[in-house]
Amino acid sequence: MKKYLQTTEEVLRELNSQRDGLSAGEAAKRLEENGKNKLTEAKKDSLAVRLFNQLKDPMIIILIVAAIISGITAVYSGESFADVIIIMAVVVINSVLGVFQESKAEKAIEALQAISAATSKVMRDGKILEIKSEDLVIGDVIMLEAGDSIPADARILESASLKIEEAALTGESVPVDKVIIALNLGDQKDISLGDRKNMVYMGSAVVYGRGTATVVATGMDTEVGKIADAITQAKENQTPLQIKLNQLSKVLSWLVLGICVFIFAISLIRLYLGDGITGTGVLNTFMIAVSLAVAAIPEGLAAVVTIVLSIGVTNMSKKKAVIRKLTAVETLGCTQVICSDKTGTLTQNKMTVVEYFGWDPQFLGRAVALCNDAYLNDDNKAEGEPTEAALVNYGYSHGLNKGEMEAKTCRVGEAPFDSGRKLMSTIHKLENGFFEQYTKGAPDVLVSRCTTYWDGEIQQIMTDEKRQEISYANKEMAGQALRVLSGAFRSWDAMPKEQTPDYLEKDLCFIGLTGMIDPIRPEVKDAIKECKEAGIRTVMITGDHPDTATAIAKQLDIITDTDEAITGAQLDDISDEQLGKDIGKYSVYARVQPEHKVRIVKAWQNQGMIVAMTGDGVNDAPSIKTADIGIGMGITGTDVTKNVADMVLADDNFATIVNAVREGRRIYGNIRKAIQFLLSSNLSEVLSIFIATLMGFTILLPVHLLWINLITDSFPAIALGLEKEEANSMKQPPREAKEGIFSRGLGFDVIWQGVMVTVVTITAYFVGHFMEAGVWEIAESADGITMAFLTLSMAEMFHSLNMRSRRQSIFRMQHQNHALYLAMLASLVLTTAVIFIPPIAAAFEFEPISLTEYFTAMGLAFSVIPIVETVKFFQRRMESK
Ligand code: ATP
Repeated sequence: MKKYLQTTEEVLRELNSQRDGLSAGEAAKRLEENGKNKLTEAKKDSLAVRLFNQLKDPMIIILIVAAIISGITAVYSGESFADVIIIMAVVVINSVLGVFQESKAEKAIEALQAISAATSKVMRDGKILEIKSEDLVIGDVIMLEAGDSIPADARILESASLKIEEAALTGESVPVDKVIIALNLGDQKDISLGDRKNMVYMGSAVVYGRGTATVVATGMDTEVGKIADAITQAKENQTPLQIKLNQLSKVLSWLVLGICVFIFAISLIRLYLGDGITGTGVLNTFMIAVSLAVAAIPEGLAAVVTIVLSIGVTNMSKKKAVIRKLTAVETLGCTQVICSDKTGTLTQNKMTVVEYFGWDPQFLGRAVALCNDAYLNDDNKAEGEPTEAALVNYGYSHGLNKGEMEAKTCRVGEAPFDSGRKLMSTIHKLENGFFEQYTKGAPDVLVSRCTTYWDGEIQQIMTDEKRQEISYANKEMAGQALRVLSGAFRSWDAMPKEQTPDYLEKDLCFIGLTGMIDPIRPEVKDAIKECKEAGIRTVMITGDHPDTATAIAKQLDIITDTDEAITGAQLDDISDEQLGKDIGKYSVYARVQPEHKVRIVKAWQNQGMIVAMTGDGVNDAPSIKTADIGIGMGITGTDVTKNVADMVLADDNFATIVNAVREGRRIYGNIRKAIQFLLSSNLSEVLSIFIATLMGFTILLPVHLLWINLITDSFPAIALGLEKEEANSMKQPPREAKEGIFSRGLGFDVIWQGVMVTVVTITAYFVGHFMEAGVWEIAESADGITMAFLTLSMAEMFHSLNMRSRRQSIFRMQHQNHALYLAMLASLVLTTAVIFIPPIAAAFEFEPISLTEYFTAMGLAFSVIPIVETVKFFQRRMESK
């Protein structure tokens, strides 16, 4: 029978479950029988398909065509197949690396998704446990509260004003009020999903209230499971940098095509004027054009960027910053304003009541402990949300055991807490049959709803004087950075007709105030100082009282003056336009509603600022979405905010945001280093071929360029991506979000460094020819080619060392880059091997060179280090001016 037509008792009986849940053993058995509560994911492409996809790359197509043409000529002319073999080997290595690189990036993202996997609160063996949502089974009793994603299809057992947003399933964006009673078909055949008011469905979210429900369907048997046979993972978007690089690659490809046609034409004219057009002649010319294409297209670029980004993301998650969207890594480095919650992010969220105001601490303890969702565990320590737990502990310190009190005066109704209203109320049935309501919350809100106060014996009329006295006590505590919460009560002869906040939260009797200390996180002060040095503004946004907020902000050096603080009420009085003008004045926003956060983010963004914003509650989702970097809280955050966040802090800590910004800057900086390295290398190759062709000699064969580009260049480029941060990385202002790849002198550096390597390479060619033939002349030279190859590879290798920093001297680096040293060694060994191991050397058409020639080539290659050091020296001087 359909569960929504049954009563809760019938449903539980049918599912062989009960209100306090399944036993752990039974749950394990059911999990074994029915499988995990997961939707099946779309099948991944097979290895063959992935490899085949790699072959679609234009560069690879050019290479395959080149290999085919070389193959055909080899057959007809009887020459060796060495070229074909080498080209095909490069194609294969490149494709395998491509697949490897993609799957590494994918694995990194998958691992992150596993870390941020959803959990649910469930009753097992009568205790509340937090388990992975995928381990839920039919019959489990789950606890639901505002901000939770619904983990499976379930029948509601208890509902305290539960409101569920089911837009994903029904398209209806207005949250639905949920009930417990069995539904009635009436004359309908069935009830549509949106009208099943006693059910909750996987994929929807709790926006208000609290409740429990028993799971009736899991995994693919849920309603969403039925709609979608398989969920296709949303494709990871490319980061802005990756998009710009793709555009660059396109431009380069066209450019290359142009140059190739040009060179091909020139060479054909030469042939025509010289020996006449022959098959071998045309083939050679074609191969030159191919070698140019190979030289100019930076094949390794996309791979290096993906690898560096995915390694970076993995490192960040180890440091507690879990990136959910790859684009965030880049944006982090541009962050100019960080808007942070106070409680739990700047402070430890370890609350202890240290002050009290009122005339009856016992009664206050009773009210705030009963109007409360935290509970005492077996060791009589409170567990639950820290503010609430502190109040339960406070009650216990006055001899009041929450569990025992609740057994006598059980909760029969409630209006749950929400951060907009800043109040919470519960209704309790007393032993004498009457009802008593307890309300707790922000004093400024609560006191305005009190018409009487409790003097310790009876209710007295609330006077203006009393209000002032309370307000004074509140201010006194808040000024000491204490979080102040007040308690009140209201008596009822019978159960209140309604349980809405409006109906309950008036005509209250004030009982007292509690002042809680919430120590600041010790590492935060330094992190804020670091932000200042890095040109990043820290802004505190809190639901707490302005006095508490300013006191804490002063301790943290966020503000020096009270003028820099503003309240939500004051914000309501100023226009968006005015806020835009004044936004720079305020660093503390107190007693704000979640809606204000969106206004604050937008005001900063309108000033052209890149804003990071933290959030935990269900109502914070819009501001997290609006911010350039939305940050969710791993510990206290709700599923709803985490799901829209770009980054989740595993430890809720502000200092972790600052670390992530530092990582973002480092990763972006390193990618730029790798780009500069690869582009200047490619440029030097193009220029060398171009100049040699114009002058009429062959400097390098296509296979030589292939080897350098794909084998000896790639490792140092990746190693540059692993470079540690530079000493001054957090002493500089954030980079412009809109800056292009070539900004800040990178374009200029690529050009002059490309020219530099070209000059040493061509010099090596002529020196090689001179050492072989004893004359300086333009002529075809086997030694020249070998030396040019050696010099070009080694100059690039030494240049990778230069690129450890774009401006600092490499002799003053604070850290070592062992990966780079290893990559350089590998390049050195491989290049030497290609030249000196006879069969390989023969395949590459290298002439054995003497040791003198070898070291001369090395010396020429090494010259790039002193040259770049000298230029950097002048660049530093110019930039410091
Ligand atoms: P932040 O926004 O920095 O996390 P916050 O924790 O004070 O600060 P909210 O959780 O929105 O922000 O709380 C706003 C106010 O509501 C608090 O200052 C407090 O007065 C009141 N409040 C907080 N928790 C409760 C609760 N469980 N019951 C009743 N009132 C509460």
